[in-house]
Amino acid sequence: MTTEPTSLQEPQALTFKAEVQQVLQILAHSLYTDREIFLRELISNASDALNRIQFEMVTNQDVVDSDAELAIRIEADTEAKTVTISDSGIGMTREEMIEHLGTIAQSSARAFVQQNRDGHKATASEIIGQFGVGFYSVFMVADRVTVVSRSFRPDAEAAIWESVGDASYQVGPAEREQRGTTITLHLKEDAHEFATSWRLEQIIKRHSDFVAFPIYSGERQLNQRKALWRRAPREVEAEQYQNLYRQLTLESDEPLLQIHLSTDVPVDLHTILFIPSKRERGLLERRVEGKVRLYSRKVLILEEAKELIPTYFRFIEGVVDSEDLPLNVARESVQSSPVMQRIRKTLTGRLHRELNELADRDSAKFANFWSEFGVFIKEGIATDYEHRSELLKLLRFHTTRGGEELVTLGQYKSRIVDGQQEIYYLLASSLEAGRSSPHLDPFQARGIEVLILHDLMDGFMLSGLREYEGLRLRNVDDADLELPGELEAVTPLVDDATFSRLAERVAQLLGERVKEVRASKLLRGSPARLVSDDEGIGREMQRIQQVLGRETEQTRRILELNPASELVAALARRVEANAEDALTAVVIEQLYDNELLIEGLHQNPATMVPRIMQLLAAAVRS
Ligand code: ADP
Repeated sequence: MTTEPTSLQEPQALTFKAEVQQVLQILAHSLYTDREIFLRELISNASDALNRIQFEMVTNQDVVDSDAELAIRIEADTEAKTVTISDSGIGMTREEMIEHLGTIAQSSARAFVQQNRDGHKATASEIIGQFGVGFYSVFMVADRVTVVSRSFRPDAEAAIWESVGDASYQVGPAEREQRGTTITLHLKEDAHEFATSWRLEQIIKRHSDFVAFPIYSGERQLNQRKALWRRAPREVEAEQYQNLYRQLTLESDEPLLQIHLSTDVPVDLHTILFIPSKRERGLLERRVEGKVRLYSRKVLILEEAKELIPTYFRFIEGVVDSEDLPLNVARESVQSSPVMQRIRKTLTGRLHRELNELADRDSAKFANFWSEFGVFIKEGIATDYEHRSELLKLLRFHTTRGGEELVTLGQYKSRIVDGQQEIYYLLASSLEAGRSSPHLDPFQARGIEVLILHDLMDGFMLSGLREYEGLRLRNVDDADLELPGELEAVTPLVDDATFSRLAERVAQLLGERVKEVRASKLLRGSPARLVSDDEGIGREMQRIQQVLGRETEQTRRILELNPASELVAALARRVEANAEDALTAVVIEQLYDNELLIEGLHQNPATMVPRIMQLLAAAVRS
């Protein structure tokens, strides 16, 4: 009787999961321009495997080859046309090989492959760069790949995995004493260039120079290795920062700003943070979030340390390294670790300082920052009370004065008129809609500047922006607005009684849709406006809900009519002549819809078209 299943002694043929087959298809037929990144992918896997064994050895004594040097070795065989990459990392058992090299782990990559089926022609680098289907990139350059590995677990046996990049692969037992993994690529006819040491060295310099473990070719170490963030900032050259940025993000752009801090008091902290120059990266996945990697004692302990900086700084990329962190910090949260708290405080303060300095020093660059990342700063205003004063200085607004130019709250304040004690803002669905708002009438007449808030995030930001240096923020659509300064009163074109009959008729027609219809004291040239008399923030959030397409109960507004407007006066006279007149009713409906539209509150503007047609017909007839 056999106790062991024979298949474990013999090679076994298995098929790849469907999505792997698709990725292999795409890679095999992709353009050749980015092929060299296969090496970066393999080195990055090797480096991960070394990180993991290093982490394991902190707590586990029972590891195969516990004193082997943690390193990566690369060999090119020009004769055989092969490239070999070996590491002394954590290794893989046969089962792990089947699990890791036979499927795509990341669900985002799977989603991508599905998406790709529906028409989009992806390039290999799009897939690899964005989803890290890294290992399979070997099939861009190789037509046969073998992986021999031995796990760190003392009872595990060595195994071999082999594939020619079609639908299947083989696994079987192998001979290997040392812990780790060796990958051999048999290069394709058109990829023989990679079988030379100088070419491999060139690729490593470009993509993997700061990998924390030594990369050897023969006796020579190819990578610089010394972590850039542990050097003094004055010793680091611009190009080195760019290389690091490129290695971290896989982006080809330059970062907008880098922040390098290397100190040992009050905590040991070595960090390089980057602000990217663009918010959205990659063509396919609209990735807006960055990653801050956390190292301690040269070991990568967290791939994505979310709590080290405030959430609204989540677009930042970089590395944080501290000797003071306990190695089990991965399981601790910032709240429970005083060192993490101190690091967070230092980084947050530094980021605010750098951004404010950038704003002072280089307004063009800051404008670029603002257009890409302004929304995050607005989020900060709403969520971070502690740093509000630093964040306030970063805000930029369109105003009724500035034209296309953006204005700070400080600039606004310096231009307020005599007696003005509030900062006025107008919420609009676009800058153009904002500029033509009837709410601006009384402000323009008095030369008072108004902020035009036309970004979706603005409503949310206002929940944290109630005041700036003693000036309260005030919505221009407030029902009981009183403005500084006297103006010549406008002359009504109809008497009170006639106006009242119009107001009554309008109220009757619009019914539940409005709260009240009344004469405006503030309007100058415009015929009408909608105002609100309830608490500001509630209706600003309502607006967001509406723009997001969510059903919300709209607060009813007050419709103000301007008795000094020709249109309103003519309407009033028509009502006086015949209260039931059909055309008058159509005009009133359209007037109300116009106001909704200007406010960005119209649910469905297309429904106005039949009515406008009616009005056009009437105009042509008369
Ligand atoms: P990713 O690295 O993004 O997880 P890959 O396809 O590159 O995707 O690798 C899949 C998995 O195979 C890795 O997560 C790891 O578990 C395993 N693996 C790859 N290379 C090695 C290696 N050199 N040593 C140990 N495990 C490895």
